Amino acid sequence: MTRLPSITERLARNTYHLDDDENHIEVNQEIARRTGTGKLLVRICPAQVYGEAPDGTISVNYAACLECGTCNAMAAPGALIWHYPRGGFGIAYREG
Ligand code: SF4
Repeated sequence: MTRLPSITERLARNTYHLDDDENHIEVNQEIARRTGTGKLLVRICPAQVYGEAPDGTISVNYAACLECGTCNAMAAPGALIWHYPRGGFGIAYREG
């Protein structure tokens, strides 16, 4: 019987064309902290793009972004600037 690949194995087949000149995600640290959006981003992102330092600063590893848009839909106004990567950059899905 053939074993189907796990979600992790499927995601590992994707490739990401990193745009070194333009980050497609920026966090407004002050608004993110004040509204609780920072902690929310850390919890909801399926790719663990966001991290929180001990001082509350939110880090962004945009190279891991799946471009699902969840963070953009959930963030408080002004806490996040998110857009799709420029043409030719970002994730290239191998399955689906
Ligand atoms: S678009 Fe999706 S994968 Fe990318 S940072 Fe937002 S929640 Fe994470």
